[in-house]
Amino acid sequence: MDARNGVQGCSISVSRLWVSLALGFVLVGCSDIQEQAPISHLTVQDDFAREVLERKEGANYCKPEGLIKDSCCDFKTVDDLNQEILPDLNKLLETPFFSHFKLNLHKTCPFWNANELCSKVDCKVSTLDRSEVPEPWLPDDPLGSINFEPIPFGSKKTERCTFTDKDFCVLEDEESLDGEYVNLLKNPERFTGYAGDSSAKVWRSIYEENCFGILNNLNGDNLFLNSDNTNNVCSEKRIFYRIVSGLHASISTHICDQYFNSTSGQWERNLECFVSRVGSFPDRLENMYFDYVILLRAITKVSRYLKNYSYCGSEPEQDKLIKKHLARISKTTRSCPDTFDEKALFQGDDAKSLKTQFKEHFRNITRVMDCIGCQKCRLWGKIQTGGVGTALKILFSYEEKSLNPKKNPNLFQKTEIVALLNTFGRLSESIAAVERFRELYQKRQSMEYTPGFKDKALEMFISTRDAIVKRSVAWADLLCERIPALKLYRQMLRSSFKPLGF
Ligand SMILES: Cc1cc2nc3c(=O)[nH]c(=O)nc-3n(C[C@H](O)[C@H](O)[C@H](O)COP(=O)(O)OP(=O)(O)OC[C@H]3O[C@@H](n4cnc5c(N)ncnc54)[C@H](O)[C@@H]3O)c2cc1C
Repeated sequence: MDARNGVQGCSISVSRLWVSLALGFVLVGCSDIQEQAPISHLTVQDDFAREVLERKEGANYCKPEGLIKDSCCDFKTVDDLNQEILPDLNKLLETPFFSHFKLNLHKTCPFWNANELCSKVDCKVSTLDRSEVPEPWLPDDPLGSINFEPIPFGSKKTERCTFTDKDFCVLEDEESLDGEYVNLLKNPERFTGYAGDSSAKVWRSIYEENCFGILNNLNGDNLFLNSDNTNNVCSEKRIFYRIVSGLHASISTHICDQYFNSTSGQWERNLECFVSRVGSFPDRLENMYFDYVILLRAITKVSRYLKNYSYCGSEPEQDKLIKKHLARISKTTRSCPDTFDEKALFQGDDAKSLKTQFKEHFRNITRVMDCIGCQKCRLWGKIQTGGVGTALKILFSYEEKSLNPKKNPNLFQKTEIVALLNTFGRLSESIAAVERFRELYQKRQSMEYTPGFKDKALEMFISTRDAIVKRSVAWADLLCERIPALKLYRQMLRSSFKPLGF
């Protein structure tokens, strides 16, 4: 193999050398191209992750399989239902009613001093101008409505008590003059780079302080609950933990599904990220499916209410469209009504106090969202904890018959309905993303084993490299002709490297 073109080629021409030295380009390939080990050896070290990602011979289905713990539904049913629901759900969430969300992103963290706000561009949220918000959604106020001026982070505003005994979350106050409207379609949930102490502290406080202290009972480094140590915990507390963990897994899945690759400058799906955060952990993956089942059951239970809800602010045509998509979603969810049996919970002697605690702990989690130091993560954190809180309210605060829109027309605020459906949309995307990660894995596996793939990649690399070198040398020569000082520098470099044999 010609050493200049070869993988191990270390033949550095003088011109290449001075170009890289003088212009600071890294142009000369002297090292080996990193041999891409097959992903099965490189990253998917965990057997479970491999089972999740690999399709079995003759079966179009991978792990996990069987019944989802604490539910009446299996994994395959969820996958199948989700495929049917997702197109309508996506269309629904594109409508202005579901894509415009009002919230206050500037509340102070009530638990600790958390004034640092991530300044990265991907952490920022673009808010809507007053003129972009349909009139009926602006709160009644003689002087106008909500504050569209940016409020400095950490400003102290008086907060009304924004929950009732039926609520599992501290709601965004729709009537408040503070806050802003956000178009969710323009602020997608994805990788922001928010990490480190701040995010770790938020997750830690959610698990350690708000999961009934059950995690504190565990020894040593095993901070987080897993299947080995769930048996000693009552089902309500276990379910609480599973809901939180499922939400966490879903957020991680979105981050990995839309990950910013700083090398290529592109938004990409990051398989290694998924494997290391979710795909290698049977419990996390199952908890994510569990959350889907909870939301599915809540949406089924509330479907009659949603059907008759007045989607005010929407054009009559929008209202019709919303009802059409909701009807289709409900039809599918109703085909599998018994995904979760909420009546089996809160039945023991301590049911009342356990339920009160359950609510208080979940409300706390919604409050912790104001401690997140990244606006975009805070936005989606609030929506998703709000959505799960609304689902819990539907499941545990009302009998099915009382969810009658004619008798009880004002059980839910717009914010709750928007959060509920958007959270279902996010979980739905997470379930669909597992399949996308499978496809990516298959693709990468087949590329790894395609004969000649590596040679072609190598050829491409070498020709690109040589083209860059050629062009740079031409530019450098031109510059040297024009600038005498550079000409002199080149001569100096040449004479210095002559003894080395270049
Ligand atoms: C509410 C919230 C929303 C966020 N939204 C975004 C976002 O939109 N975009 C973004 O880029 N970042 C977001 N972040 C940050 C992100 O979640 C991670 O904290 C960050 O990427 C650092 O990840 P990590 O690998 O250190 O582990 P983390 O995800 O921070 O997890 C911390 C620890 O929790 C445990 N753990 C992880 N997953 C689970 C699980 N499913 N169940 C049980 N235990 C688990 C592990 O022991 C892990 O070490 C958000 C953070 C919070 C608190």
